[in-house]
Amino acid sequence: MEDCIFCKIVAKEIESDIVYEDDRVVAFKDIEPQAPIHYLIIPKKHIPTLVDLQEEDNNLVGHIYQVANKIAKDEGIAKDGFRVVSNCNKAGGQTVYHIHYHLLGGRNLQWPPG
Ligand code: AMP
Ligand code: ZN
Repeated sequence: MEDCIFCKIVAKEIESDIVYEDDRVVAFKDIEPQAPIHYLIIPKKHIPTLVDLQEEDNNLVGHIYQVANKIAKDEGIAKDGFRVVSNCNKAGGQTVYHIHYHLLGGRNLQWPPG
């Protein structure tokens, strides 16, 4: 997708600090970390928002959670706890329109979020 910053990260057209990659997803460090550990896990496929997800994406979304699980274990935050969150559309706080799952950890996270 032209002019999508995350598609450009997938295509390696812009730099990012990639911590995990396979045939379907990429995970990289958030440029403005909100916690000691803050990664974004994205599908390589361009899907603008959560409401654009189709039945055929069910396996992909499950895979994203498996990747989150693996990264959390590798980073040593699985036992203490962490958060996976995906913002949808304007009121949900979405600023990049290529779905992404924030993986946050390494500190006590507050609830509810702002
Ligand atoms: P959201 O506001 O939920 O759409 O999240 C978008 C996230 O992408 C924010 O946390 C940004 O800091 C992050 N972000 C934007 N551009 C980049 C980039 N080039 N590399 C890494 N993270 C980015
Ligand atoms: Zn995209």
